[in-house]
Amino acid sequence: MSDQYPIEKIRSDFPILGQTNRGKPLAYLDNAASSQKPQRVIDSISKYYESTNSNVHRGVYQLAEEAENHYRMAREYIADWFSVSADELIFTRGTTESLNLVANSFGKTQLGEGDRVIVSEMEHHANIVPWQLVCKTVGAQITVVPVLPDGSLDRQVLSSLLKEPGSRILSLCQVSNTLGTQNPLSEIIQEAKLNDVRIVVDGAQSAPHQRINLRELGCDFFAFSGHKVFGPMGIGVLFGQKELLQEMPPFLGGGDMIDQVSFEGTTFASPPQRFEAGTPNVAGAIGLAEAFRYLSEIDLKLASRHEKQLLALSREGFQGIEGFIEHGTTSGKAALLSFSIDGIHPHDLSTLLDSEGIAIRTGHHCCQPLMQKLGVEATARASFALYNTLEEAERLVSAVRKAVSVLR
Ligand code: PMP
Repeated sequence: MSDQYPIEKIRSDFPILGQTNRGKPLAYLDNAASSQKPQRVIDSISKYYESTNSNVHRGVYQLAEEAENHYRMAREYIADWFSVSADELIFTRGTTESLNLVANSFGKTQLGEGDRVIVSEMEHHANIVPWQLVCKTVGAQITVVPVLPDGSLDRQVLSSLLKEPGSRILSLCQVSNTLGTQNPLSEIIQEAKLNDVRIVVDGAQSAPHQRINLRELGCDFFAFSGHKVFGPMGIGVLFGQKELLQEMPPFLGGGDMIDQVSFEGTTFASPPQRFEAGTPNVAGAIGLAEAFRYLSEIDLKLASRHEKQLLALSREGFQGIEGFIEHGTTSGKAALLSFSIDGIHPHDLSTLLDSEGIAIRTGHHCCQPLMQKLGVEATARASFALYNTLEEAERLVSAVRKAVSVLR
């Protein structure tokens, strides 16, 4: 499959991949944390600052109109990519801010004493802590769906929780950043709807690897970060169903989100402006739209098959390493490999890999409750993107094997 995949062309689009790391060719395998940027995304940002920069929404001069147009077109392009309408797409700083927005605006008004927000044990802190803060304020509770030993969700527990009176919101990742588990979202969303439970999706790890039709998926809210989808840092998106957004109060107050302001009272703009207080990250939105334009020129199904091939090759290569444990073994898991090796601290492993030019992540991956479940403090995680090569996967395997022989 990789023969047909234009890997060399794709790599040449990403300037950073030609660099060295500690004097060795960089093998960047930390894509679940943040992905690299193609030249055209970088250029789109510089071009905006070189020739279009001005504040949006306020000016009646040419530059301001051009900036406004670019910002509007970016929103439209991204909305179109996800098959939703532009007024359902709110620009935020990233997944974390998107989830805080839903929790504080939608959650706070929908939840009351004794109500329940369902999350899973595999969630990132960004999909736990905002709900905890809001639940504490309104007297609601968080209920947790356990993860089974293979890293899948305990669907039986989920089904019974969805039926419990007081269950109002289910907030779930589409793909786990630590286990790689792909949750069967379509089925789960149908089940949630039958039980009148609203569904919020953390799409931080799914958006970079597939084109998602949010209209078909049918969730109420969907959050993701620009920096993981080959776009810039500091920009992200919250999609919300129009009829829900219209009823939601603002999250942050300030300029650009109002209709009329007086000391007696203030009225608010319609969505999405109601949720975008202050000067927006216009360059970020333009860069993010450019990242999706880039992705539109790539066969993402082929890319995904390629990434899975790298995963398979690494898994095979690690077989037989004494004390090797893979965390998350569901079939069809995303192309990331979280692992522990008995007696070896992940940070020591990562340091040795770094000296070979290989960048992986070690730590709790912002999933401390999941770490407790797995009985570890940290794992090592290699995560692949569309520009990684078979050779890089092979280098990972041999560097890990070499590190084990040094550290044992
Ligand atoms: N959710 C998941 C599943 C993630 O992987 C991440 C990033 N590691 C986040 C949320 C938070 O994303 P950000 O830091 O870009 O807001």
